[in-house]
Amino acid sequence: MQLFNTLTRKKEEFVPMEPGKVRMYVCGPTVYNLIHIGNARPMIIFDTIRRYMEYKGYEVNYVSNFTDVDDKIIKKAQEEGVSSAEISERYIKECVQDMTGMNVKPATTHPRATQEIDGMIEMISTLIDKGYAYAAADGTVYFRVKKFDEYGKLSHKNLDDLQSGFRALQVSGEEQKEDPLDFVLWKPKKEGEPFWTSPWCDGRPGWHIECSVMSKKYLGDEIDIHAGGEDLIFPHHENEIAQSECANGKTFARYWMHNAFLNIDNHKMSKSLGNFRTVREIAKEYDLQVLRLFMLSAHYRSPLNFSADLMESSKSALERIREAASRLKDRCEAGAGIPLSDAEEKLLAEAAEFTKRFEEAMDDDFNTADAVSVIFELVRFSNANTDEGSSAAFAQALLDQLQMLSDVCGLILFPPKEDLDAEIESLIEARQEARKNKDFARADQIRDQLLSMGIQLKDTREGVKWTRI
Ligand code: AMP
Ligand code: ZN
Repeated sequence: MQLFNTLTRKKEEFVPMEPGKVRMYVCGPTVYNLIHIGNARPMIIFDTIRRYMEYKGYEVNYVSNFTDVDDKIIKKAQEEGVSSAEISERYIKECVQDMTGMNVKPATTHPRATQEIDGMIEMISTLIDKGYAYAAADGTVYFRVKKFDEYGKLSHKNLDDLQSGFRALQVSGEEQKEDPLDFVLWKPKKEGEPFWTSPWCDGRPGWHIECSVMSKKYLGDEIDIHAGGEDLIFPHHENEIAQSECANGKTFARYWMHNAFLNIDNHKMSKSLGNFRTVREIAKEYDLQVLRLFMLSAHYRSPLNFSADLMESSKSALERIREAASRLKDRCEAGAGIPLSDAEEKLLAEAAEFTKRFEEAMDDDFNTADAVSVIFELVRFSNANTDEGSSAAFAQALLDQLQMLSDVCGLILFPPKEDLDAEIESLIEARQEARKNKDFARADQIRDQLLSMGIQLKDTREGVKWTRI
């Protein structure tokens, strides 16, 4: 299995520290809002990588945190006049609901920063004792960047360039730093903010120290893979390396993996552009499996553009896979009395090639785009080679193969009936919303979409009723 390591900028053979076991940490979201479809990309990608490693027989200890103390959380709490804990609790629940909808497996552990403060104070104390950190007069603790010779090794930045950039950007209130490059490990509380007692001041941790500590606690001083979106390379992951390697005296992570960004209609997604889409909004229009298939249709290191057209083609692609699975299932019942023929045996040997090619694609730095196209080849192959004369054993073998490869991708072949009902209900809701906004074209489009799913709507005095046709 080869993977691209941001640290070396090369594809490398994956060799875990302990044979058969993988220790993997994925930086999780800051929980102050519903997650957006950009946040969904690392969730889906690294979940698929985990699933593939499990398929290959590895035991994966997968840790992904929730950052539940942060300026944005505090700001939102102040706006709503509630506590930060209430905000983070609410959005962790919402995030878990979205992850479930996207069929992202729960992590082995989902630590929360606010529950790991003791470990952070301990690591900061170690860094101070070793001379890698210092407390300023107001109780802020800084990391002494120049003391760590290898600073910049992940982002491939050079200290001199960084320094001149920082000098130009110097902000007020930071005069107490020994060096403009130094970053915060602990900061004093401000009025109305959550805080914890520490040897330096009542305050809260900086963001970077959280991940160093949670990774150490749940995975150990050294781990195999540390992952996240590419915006985290600098400064977040660079600073995590500095903290962990100076505190623990060991290499922090052997492989660093980063997904490229998701854009919308070829623009960066941002609140100011008004093109911000949450996973929850997508769930109103689509089965989130469509979003999952869409994410997997590109390589994780390539930028991916989100558009309605691409979602529509992912939707029909998912339907194609599911239709093939249903046909095979029907054949498994109808072909019960038919023995496996020699010709079918030969076809199965041919079909085994699809699994091999799927694995080759995934072994090449998790090329899900190619892996997914192999699934479609298998779909075409089974559609072309099954008919009324097919045996149950033949159909079952193809179905098992399709199921196995789809499972690695987290794609569900037979969605539970309740999920379908929920999808129908949310489409009806979206149609009502469109009508309320006098967007009749959209309302008609949804009615047609439901019709194509075999659902007929009837507007009654008690509201909209639906029946299967
Ligand atoms: P945040 O809550 O901003 O810390 O982000 C959580 C995760 O989502 C991080 O791994 C980010 O790198 C990732 N992320 C945020 N925006 C995008 C985007 N537009 N495309 C891909 N990944 C993103
Ligand atoms: Zn992190």
